Order: sequence, then structure tokens, then C-alpha cells
Amino acid sequence: MENAAFLTNFTNDITIVHILPTLTASSATKQKILANPSIKFIYESTVSEITGDGKHVTSITVTHQKTGEKTSLTTDGVFISIGLSPNTSLFRDQLEMDSYGYLLLKDGTETSIKGVFAAGDVADYRYRQAITSAGTGCAASLDAERYLNRYLNTL
Ligand SMILES: Cc1cc2nc3c(=O)[nH]c(=O)nc-3n(C[C@H](O)[C@H](O)[C@H](O)COP(=O)(O)OP(=O)(O)OC[C@H]3O[C@@H](n4cnc5c(N)ncnc54)[C@H](O)[C@@H]3O)c2cc1C
Repeated sequence: MENAAFLTNFTNDITIVHILPTLTASSATKQKILANPSIKFIYESTVSEITGDGKHVTSITVTHQKTGEKTSLTTDGVFISIGLSPNTSLFRDQLEMDSYGYLLLKDGTETSIKGVFAAGDVADYRYRQAITSAGTGCAASLDAERYLNRYLNTL
């Protein structure tokens, strides 16, 4: 939804092809998008084919999920935005994560294993930005340093 809103800076003719029968964005975002005259919707459908002339995109084929009906739609641009998955499979069954795969943190940047700290997109469902990742990276390094200092004092 955010990407579609951004694209209205460049065009007043956007069609969102959405696999579900309704939108799942927050209600504030939904209201904003549905009220935008530049954005149309095709629900319960997927893009099954993108066609071009060798240089540019010219059309897409949209397939309805329930009926299987195929519709051709003329377009000169396709933007694919189907969500983000955190790159945390490496930590599966080792570090606690939420149902989307984001690492769960407590007390700053500490993971479910003592002495293991996390920062950035792997633990950030909400912001996922370079600057916030750099900030939590700094926090994690401070937490790790403090942890090591405490650990060394117990030896
Ligand atoms: C298309 C796009 C546009 C974006 N635009 C912006 C923007 O304009 N402004 C903004 O602030 N943010 C933007 N972001 C988000 C920003 O890039 C991320 O939030 C930020 O890079 C996250 O930093 P990170 O250190 O958590 O992860 P990453 O930058 O993804 O770094 C993770 C590192 O870990 C490495 N790695 C992965 N697996 C392993 C492994 N098994 N072993 C060792 N290393 C591994 C990867 O190679 C990578 O170098 C954009 C992201 C995308 C995808």
C-alpha cells in the first residue's frame, strides 16, 4: 500500500492486483489508499504473465484465484511488492523468533541466548531502515561489550 501511494507521485493510473479478497493493511492506510482516485484494485487475483515488446512491458495477464479466469491488462510498468521476510532461517530452532521470523529481543538487543545480541532488520518488524539498523547495531555492540566486561569480572 505504501509503495502504491508513493507511485502516485509519478502516475495517476495504478492498478493493484491483490491475491486476497480484502486489504490487510492498517485501517488508516486502507482509508487513504481506497480514497485515492489514482489507484484501482483487482482482488483475489495474481499476475500470471508479464508481456513485453522486447524493450518495454506492454501488458500483464491477471488470473482470478477462484474462477481461473484470465484477463489481459495493458500497462507500461509492473512493480512487484509482496512483503518482506527477515533473513533469519540461520537462527531457526536456536534463537526465539515471532511467527514472521523476526528475532525476539529483550532488555535492548539481547536475544533468547545469553551473550547473543541482534540488531537491524532481523529484529525489526516496524522500521527496517538503514539508519535504525545502524542505531541498533551500535546498541548491540555496546550491550555485547558490557556483557563481556561483566563476564570477565566474574572469572
Ligand atoms: C530495495 C531496498 C531499498 C531500501 N531503501 C532504503 C532507504 O532508502 N533508506 C533506508 O534507510 N533504508 C532502505 N532500505 C532498508 C535498508 O537497506 C535496511 O534496513 C538495512 O540495510 C538493514 O541493515 P542490516 O545491517 O540489518 O541488514 P543488511 O544490510 O541486509 O546486512 C546483513 C548482512 O549480513 C550478511 N549475511 C546474510 N546472511 C549471512 C550469513 N549466513 N553469514 C554471514 N553474513 C550473512 C549479508 O550479506 C549482509 O551483508 C532499503 C532496502 C531495500 C531492500
